[in-house]
Amino acid sequence: MSTSDLIEIANADAELASQGVSSSKVPHVPPPKSATPLRVYWLYVIPLIVLHALALLAFLPWFFSWSGLILAILGHFTFGMLGITIGYHRLLTHRGFNCPKWLEHTFAILGLCNLQDSPARWVAIHRMHHQHSDQQPDPHTPLVNLLWGHVGWVLHRNRDHDSVTSFERYVRDLLKDPFYLKLEKRGLWVKIFWLHAACFALAGGLVGFLYGGLAASIQLASSWLVWGVFVRTVFVLHGTWSVNSLGHMFGYKNYKTRDDSRNNWLVALISHGEGWHNNHHAQPRAAHHGHRWFEFDMSWWVILLMEKVGLATDVVRAKPVPRQ
Ligand SMILES: [Zn+2]
Ligand SMILES: [Zn+2]
Repeated sequence: MSTSDLIEIANADAELASQGVSSSKVPHVPPPKSATPLRVYWLYVIPLIVLHALALLAFLPWFFSWSGLILAILGHFTFGMLGITIGYHRLLTHRGFNCPKWLEHTFAILGLCNLQDSPARWVAIHRMHHQHSDQQPDPHTPLVNLLWGHVGWVLHRNRDHDSVTSFERYVRDLLKDPFYLKLEKRGLWVKIFWLHAACFALAGGLVGFLYGGLAASIQLASSWLVWGVFVRTVFVLHGTWSVNSLGHMFGYKNYKTRDDSRNNWLVALISHGEGWHNNHHAQPRAAHHGHRWFEFDMSWWVILLMEKVGLATDVVRAKPVPRQ
C-alpha cells in the first residue's frame, strides 16, 4: 500500500459525499469486535485518573496564580491547537498541507504533550474512524453510546489499536520516518510528556524563587504544574473527545455524508475549529474546516498565515458548500 493509499483511507468519506450518498442514521452500533469482550485498559485508565485528580487541585486556592492561568490559556493554543488540531490531525492524518520536516516534528512534539497518544497511534485510530465512521469497526462512534464515543473507547482495550497489522495498514507512511518510530519505542512519547511537565514546574520554581524565596518558589512551581499542565491537558483532552462524541450527535449538517457527523459551534470553539465536523467528514483532506462565513476556524487562519510566510505549501482548500 503506497503513501497516497494511506492518505486515501484517511480521506475516504470525501468520495462518498461527492457521490451524494445519503445520510443513513444508524440507531445503534455495538462496540468494535476488536474491543470485545470489554476489558479495562489499565495502562490508559490509571494515568487518566491521576491526571484528572491532579487537575482537580485547581479548585484549591493555594494552587492558583494568574501566571498559571495565563499559561493554561496559552498552552491550549500552543499544545492543543498547534499540536493536536494542526499537527496530529490536519497535517499528519490528512496531509491537508505540507511544511518543513523540522516544523512537522515540532508540531508532533507539541501534540504528544497533551497525553493523547503517540502521533502514529493517534493517526492510525483517526484514519480507522474516517474509513468506518459510525459503522463497525469505528473505534469511537457515539452510536454505541455517548460515553463510549467520548472516553469509553479510550478506557477499554482494543486489539486493533496496538496490532502491528493495523500500524502497517494505517500509518506505514508515518513510520517510515525514524523520528515517529523512535517515539513508539519504550514509551518515549510518555516520557517526553512528563519531561515537559517537569520543565513547567522547574520554570515556575525558578521564577517564584527569584521573586519571593523558597515558599514562593514551591507555590509557583505547583501552580504552573497544576494550571499550565494538568488543567490544560484535561481541557484539551475533553475538547478532542467532544469532537468524537458531540460532533457525531448534536449540531447541523452542511453535507450529506454516510456518517452522522455534525457541525457543532461549541465543540468548534473549544477545539479551534475541529467542531465543524460534518464539513470535515465531507472534505477530509481540506485544511479548512469552517466552510460557511460564520464557521470560524482559528486553525485555518494559522495555516493561512504559515502559507503567507512560506512555512506551509500545497494547502488543500475546501470546495464551496453545495446549495441544499
Ligand atoms: Zn468523525
Ligand atoms: Zn479527520
